[in-house]
Amino acid sequence: MRSPKWLRDEIILCLDLYLNHNGNKIQKNDPKVAELSDTLNKLPIVSNKVEFEKFRNENGVIMKLGNFKQWDPTYIGKGLGGGSKLDEEVFNEFFNQRELLGELAKGIKSLTNNEEISSEIREMDEDEESNDRKEGKVLYKYHRYRERNSKVIEDKKKQFVKENGSLYCENCGFNYSKVYGKIGDGFIEAHHIVPLHKLDGETKTTEKDLILLCANCHRMIHKVDDLDLSKIKIN
Ligand SMILES: [Zn+2]
Ligand SMILES: [Zn+2]
Repeated sequence: MRSPKWLRDEIILCLDLYLNHNGNKIQKNDPKVAELSDTLNKLPIVSNKVEFEKFRNENGVIMKLGNFKQWDPTYIGKGLGGGSKLDEEVFNEFFNQRELLGELAKGIKSLTNNEEISSEIREMDEDEESNDRKEGKVLYKYHRYRERNSKVIEDKKKQFVKENGSLYCENCGFNYSKVYGKIGDGFIEAHHIVPLHKLDGETKTTEKDLILLCANCHRMIHKVDDLDLSKIKIN
């Protein structure tokens, strides 16, 4: 049975080992290989690992590191070949962005290793958007989780009403109460503007980290193909 295709989150973690932690020279008995295999098995995202007993074991990790060599201009030799189109894309994307790669990998690992957060993330469904997020699914799902579950959101809404008289979208001005009447009262969504790669599961959300958006604007901002949502200028 063939191992299921590697997902973007998984490739990011493995590439971080390759580019940032001397993974290009690593041997199978290196503890970093076992550690990565363990994290890959715990990732709170959908994969086809069910019934695949060798899922992302040490051999799998070593193979993936070997796949990367063919695209590495500093590697002398042919490498292992193989790998997927996505492996190649991710490799080229991060070859010159190692710091960002490191931050993403760190974020994914710390959320995965936090049992409470990771079980929350696992429960959440994966929408279409989570499939093509550049930062991967784990960080994106956690972003959405924080937007729904933070007590700060309630404080933010109260504060906003106090300052502006009512709740409305900070981007387009849409006011649920005005359009829908009573059922729209109190309705608005909160968007988290902290760059996704800075989410580590430990830093607390503050009111400054949130903007209030209508469902349409929120949907659109999540579609923007940028790792750093705070860079997006809407309006
Ligand atoms: Zn809006
Ligand atoms: Zn959002």
